[in-house]
Amino acid sequence: MQDKVFDLIIIGAGPAGLAAGSYAGRARLDTLIIEKEKDGGQIVITAEIDNYPGSVENESGPSLIARMAKQAEGFGAQKLYDTVTDVDLSGDIKIITCKKGVYKCRALIIATGAHPRPIGCPGEKELIGKGVSYCATCDGAFFEDMEIFVVGGGDTAVEEAVYLTRFGRSVTIIHRRDKLRAVQGIQDRAFKNDKIKYMWDSVVDELKGDGILESMVIKNTKTGEKTEIFADPEDGTFGIFVFIGFLPESALFEGKVAMQNGYIVTNEKMETNVKGVYAAGDVRITPLRQVVTAASDGAIAAMQVYHYLENL
Ligand code: NAP
Repeated sequence: MQDKVFDLIIIGAGPAGLAAGSYAGRARLDTLIIEKEKDGGQIVITAEIDNYPGSVENESGPSLIARMAKQAEGFGAQKLYDTVTDVDLSGDIKIITCKKGVYKCRALIIATGAHPRPIGCPGEKELIGKGVSYCATCDGAFFEDMEIFVVGGGDTAVEEAVYLTRFGRSVTIIHRRDKLRAVQGIQDRAFKNDKIKYMWDSVVDELKGDGILESMVIKNTKTGEKTEIFADPEDGTFGIFVFIGFLPESALFEGKVAMQNGYIVTNEKMETNVKGVYAAGDVRITPLRQVVTAASDGAIAAMQVYHYLENL
C-alpha cells in the first residue's frame, strides 16, 4: 500500500468520507479511506436518524453508517485504520503521513468532520466519563433514575434532552439565554415533556468532584450571581451532558489550505485553494451540517476528483 500512488485518499470515514468512497470506487478510482478510530464520526453517537431521506424507521447512527461503509467497500474503496499526523500538499503527489505508515495520492478529500465543543470550565476535563458526557446514546443509561442536566439550547441539546428523559428522573436544560435556539418542532416536543425543566440565563462555571461529579457552580449570565448545585446525597452524583455545538477537526491542515475560523474554505465543487485537494462535510464552511449534506458533499468531491484526474 505504501509503495503505490493512489488516485484518491479520503481522510475520515463519516458520511462525507464514505459517500465519497462509494462514488470514487464506483468511478473505478483507486481509493483509500483512512480513518483514525471507528467509522461514522458524530453520527455514531446519534440514537436515531429520522431526517436522512429514505432512512429506515428507528434506524440508529451506527446502523446507517455500517450500511454506508459496506457500500463503499462494495464499490472497491479500501479502508485503513490509522491516525494521520502530517500532510504534504505542496506537490502534484500528496503525501499523507500516519502513525503506522506513509501513503501517497494524486488527489485528497478531507472529510475529518468536527467534534463536540467543550464548556471549557474548571473540572470538566477531569470529570469526563465520571458524570460529564457528550453523548446521550453512549452514557444516558448510567443515569437511570438520577438527575440529569443538559447544557445548550440548539437542536442537539433539546433533542437529546428529550431522549434522556427515558433515563433520568428529571432533565434540566441549562441555557445561556432565555430562549431556545432549537427549531420550533423540537422545542414543542420538549415543552410537552413533564420531565424537562429549564435553567435560563445560565452557564456552568465549574464542575467539582473527587473522582465523580458531585456538584457544579452555575453562573447567571444577567446578574453574575453564582449558585452551587449538589448531587442528591442518595444518588451521590448526577449527569451533565454538553451539547453546545462543534469544532472542526482541521488542525492538521492549518497553513496548508485556506480556512476561516478553523473551517476549510471550498467552492461549490468542494475544491480548496490547493490543486487536487478537496474538503467535504462538517469540516468545511457550509450553511447546513447534516448527514444528507455531508453525503452530498462527498459525492460532489469524488466526482470532481474523477474529472480532475481525467484532465491531469
Ligand atoms: P448549535 O445550533 O450551534 O447550538 C449550540 C447551542 O449551544 C446554542 O444554544 C448556543 O447558545 C449554545 N452555546 C454555544 N456555545 C456555548 C457556550 N460556550 N456556553 C453555553 N452555551 C453555548 O449546535 P447544535 O445544536 O449541535 O446543532 C448543530 C447543527 O446541527 C445545526 O445546524 C442544527 O440545526 C443541526 N442539527 C439538526 C438536527 C435535526 O435536524 N434533527 C439535530 C441536531 C442538530 P445560543 O443559542 O445562545 O447561541
